Amino acid sequence: MLASAGLVGGGLTAASTAAQDVSASAQGIPAAAQSLPTAKSIAAGTDGLDPLLAAAYNAAATEAHNAGVPLSITSGYRTPAEQEALWEDGLQTYGSPEAARRWVLPPSESTHVTGQAIDVGPREGAQWLEDNGNHWGLCRMYDNEWWHFELATAPDAPCPPRLPDASDR
Ligand SMILES: [Zn+2]
Repeated sequence: MLASAGLVGGGLTAASTAAQDVSASAQGIPAAAQSLPTAKSIAAGTDGLDPLLAAAYNAAATEAHNAGVPLSITSGYRTPAEQEALWEDGLQTYGSPEAARRWVLPPSESTHVTGQAIDVGPREGAQWLEDNGNHWGLCRMYDNEWWHFELATAPDAPCPPRLPDASDR
């Protein structure tokens, strides 16, 4: 029962591995510091992401928040079933696979399903990440999606040219 309770607890928390590492390492830090709205809230949404992407985002979001800029993940890892539902919605909304692909990809092609993409918000935070994200290798990928970022360059190297939309990938 203990083991299963542990599994359930782990599955229910929104904390990522990164957040758990942070909270573990936070033991020994004064309580006042632990009460700051930092690691756990910043890491929200990183479950299921490529650990490198999660780490890059956590570092960037910490810097953004230190600068007073709001930044959070609005959509990160998606299961194939979740992406399939979005894809089918897209087909309904846009009328054809060609049109839908500008905004949503099927599960077999989506970088959200492989844990290699994040959508962020609000607009101010996304703009900050567009301007500063390459410090951690994070890049905006598409002209038509100001919210979608991936690990797409080496830290401090320039981001690759943006594509018009996901259908050009
Ligand atoms: Zn996206």
